[in-house]
Amino acid sequence: MASKDYYAVLGVSREVDDAELKRVYRNLARTHHPDRNPGDQKAEERFKEISEAYAVLSDPDKRAQYDRFGTVAGPGGMGDVGFGTIFEDLFEGFFSGGDRGRRTRARRGDDLQYDLEITLDEAAAGIESKIQIQRLETCDECQGSGQEPGTKPETCGTCRGQGQVRFSQGFLTVARPCPTCRGQGSINRHRCKKCDGQGRQAKERVLKVGIPAGVEDGNRLRLSHEGEGGLLGGPPGDLYVAIHVRQHEIFVRQGPHLYCELPLSFAQTALGDTVEVPVLGGTAQLTVPAGTQPGQRLTLRGKGMPQLRNRARGDAIYEVTIEVPTRLTARQRELLEEFHQISKEQETGSKASSFVERMRKLFGT
Ligand SMILES: [Zn+2]
Ligand SMILES: [Zn+2]
Repeated sequence: MASKDYYAVLGVSREVDDAELKRVYRNLARTHHPDRNPGDQKAEERFKEISEAYAVLSDPDKRAQYDRFGTVAGPGGMGDVGFGTIFEDLFEGFFSGGDRGRRTRARRGDDLQYDLEITLDEAAAGIESKIQIQRLETCDECQGSGQEPGTKPETCGTCRGQGQVRFSQGFLTVARPCPTCRGQGSINRHRCKKCDGQGRQAKERVLKVGIPAGVEDGNRLRLSHEGEGGLLGGPPGDLYVAIHVRQHEIFVRQGPHLYCELPLSFAQTALGDTVEVPVLGGTAQLTVPAGTQPGQRLTLRGKGMPQLRNRARGDAIYEVTIEVPTRLTARQRELLEEFHQISKEQETGSKASSFVERMRKLFGT
């Protein structure tokens, strides 16, 4: 390394001033930085070279030594120049080393979620529910600083308030959060007695939550500022109440509509009937028209779910199924057989006549 021409490496004259040197190095370093050229051995070599040249020429003592002897060696030479340090000072967060690790700014509290299970009837009517939550609340004694009122935090001696310490790793210097102050840059020697220096305390709260009529499974209600408390004057987070609507034993909900099966007898569908059907919160009368078919849907308008966004209520929809009796009394059997006989005669009669008609048309007889 003794023979290296640092001026040539950077492509500057021997009379170069500090500002120009810095500008040139900055441009070269940007181009050849390993972060910019992952896996490129040549770029890394070049980067080391230019960094070494800059480390020497930017230091007046080392530059003078280099100018006189053509080398810089021994203690105070190239040993622990710490390119990373130079680099960080030059770029201030341009690359990855930007987070200086200090966390002394106000921090917003975390959001919380509460899962609330309600019934379909409650979803339809809307309810006021009480929920019990555990959360960290900002200490009112120290306003979330953890510092006993009237005292000040002490600058950390390990990192001198920087919040980070540096290790040499190869030719780069790597910054890590300071282990003594855990990146805070300061040490709290007078912890707030009320919160033991934590800035927050666990509290149990009971909150009233208004659940609007028409909520659906999976809806989330936001209660502003009811989440965890902030630190150092930061605002609290929000509380989200996630709604889970329990499955109803009769109705299946689809959007604003409620569906259920309606088992009827053959006679009811053939003759027509008025039946009592379940609706949310009670029963209602439903007219079954004569000749209703299995699978047909009968609707009670406005007996479904209310909606969050408009005033229109959904419908209650009943899908007809036919129940076939498995046991018959003698009288029922007698009547059904008679009914069957008549139906058969009617059918064969009509079929026979249409058959004769078609033959006549075909053969013109
Ligand atoms: Zn406190
Ligand atoms: Zn420290």
